[in-house]
Amino acid sequence: MFGWLRKHRAVRAIPDGLWQDLLLHYPFLAARPGAQILKLRELSAQFLATKEFHGANGMVITDPVALAIAAQAVLPVLNLGLAWYDDFVGIVVHPDEVLARRTVTDEHGVVHRYDEVLAGEAMDRGPVMLSWRDVQAAGSRAEQGYNVVIHEFIHKIDMRDGTADGCPPLPSRAAHNTWLAVMQAEYQAFREKVIVAERFGGEPTWLDPYGATAIDEFFAVACEAYFVNRQRFARDFEPLLALLDGFFGAPGVNGATAS
Ligand SMILES: [Zn+2]
Repeated sequence: MFGWLRKHRAVRAIPDGLWQDLLLHYPFLAARPGAQILKLRELSAQFLATKEFHGANGMVITDPVALAIAAQAVLPVLNLGLAWYDDFVGIVVHPDEVLARRTVTDEHGVVHRYDEVLAGEAMDRGPVMLSWRDVQAAGSRAEQGYNVVIHEFIHKIDMRDGTADGCPPLPSRAAHNTWLAVMQAEYQAFREKVIVAERFGGEPTWLDPYGATAIDEFFAVACEAYFVNRQRFARDFEPLLALLDGFFGAPGVNGATAS
């Protein structure tokens, strides 16, 4: 959709001051092993050279805004490479959440209209939309495993094979089946915990209950937590930790020390 805006821009190194401010605001990035931080900086610069940012509703795209989004977006592909994001160029940033008008037709042909409040949205082969307020909130909400940028970019990774099914493109049908077996089991177990918490006064889940709405949302919400609070995530989702490590590359891969 924004393909005509693609320009051939040189990759420019990120200035020190800008980079240090980023690490101060997003401590979960600063806490990563040194080798990963170096790679994060390098990939962020490449990301900035190949993506187009658009401000909406009066949002002004400054260098810190673009860098905050770039650095969080490249975290999932540190070991996979930026080619995973080469099916789109545009990133639309709003100052705050966006009210989206939705229309769905049910099985009886009845049309339902409703409003949905969005902190972000990812479109198949299209742009990513983000609320800047929510992007920034990630700096102080890693404890809860919250990160809207990672959430939306995981949807992009999920949708690369054309379906948002909680499974990224994998090399074989067998790998796909193995992935879905683990993901579905974890999703069902999580859904049950959310139902017990919400309907029967059970203990609230640590992971955002929004992950219980659909398997692709579970994948996105789980990855937010996996990338920003690995230790806490590991306590609740051990089988998923191994699955995600296998795909994204465990800490320690590519010369980085364990975090
Ligand atoms: Zn989502």
